[in-house]
Amino acid sequence: MTSASLHKPHAHAHRRSVALFGGTFDPIHAGHIAVAQAALRRFHLDAVHFIPSSRPPHKTKQALTPFIHRYAMVALACSEHKEFIPSLAEAPPDGTAPHVFYTIDTVRRYRREHPDDHFYFIGGADQFLEIPTWRSYEALLDACDFIIASRPGFRLDALRLVIPPEKLGRTHSNDPNKIVLRKSVVHLLTTVASHVSSTEVRHRLEKHQSIHGLVPGRVEEYILGQALYR
Ligand code: ATP
Repeated sequence: MTSASLHKPHAHAHRRSVALFGGTFDPIHAGHIAVAQAALRRFHLDAVHFIPSSRPPHKTKQALTPFIHRYAMVALACSEHKEFIPSLAEAPPDGTAPHVFYTIDTVRRYRREHPDDHFYFIGGADQFLEIPTWRSYEALLDACDFIIASRPGFRLDALRLVIPPEKLGRTHSNDPNKIVLRKSVVHLLTTVASHVSSTEVRHRLEKHQSIHGLVPGRVEEYILGQALYR
């Protein structure tokens, strides 16, 4: 080994691209998987971390299925894809009592723990339109890149409107699917058009209708075996 290579131990190390996919995942469904797979391919990601939220700040009134079940379903869905990782980053600290986590803190924690990785945050267009209501959202827009998936009923051109003008970068991209900010980039993922939602899955189960094909096979088995959403 030369002295030059000793001084540059990471010169040739691969910089990992990691996406953080936060959600309630009540339950995880085919739309989530389609988004993660499309993002994986398009951005050559090394990993997608699925982060079920103990209690999302914007869903404090809705009754959520206990974290442990939502996490189990995420883990079962991830077991079918080697790049998908179930994350306990927003697990309730004492195991049960819901705890509110803020995305800015989760992203900062990942960055602190993996300073050499490049982070993206994955979300649907409906969620990104709400971003001005999130804690420290201006800091969040600086903290990582974003992959925002189209969702039926939401116009992607509206996404620009929620970005404060002073956050926009000086250079304008000719790529219509890219919004360049001063410190980050918002990528629009337009290739996914899944109508599935957790709400629909829950409603179908309440009415004893089939959810076959709407959730991964192992998740369907788990839901039926545990008699969830009845
Ligand atoms: P609910 O119906 O309970 O509100 P949901 O189906 O939106 O749930 P979440 O767990 O809240 O599921 O979603 C996590 C993230 O995935 C959000 O950013 C949401 O916008 C996105 N997402 C969910 N379903 C789709 C879909 N079919 N297409 C694109 N993005 C989606």
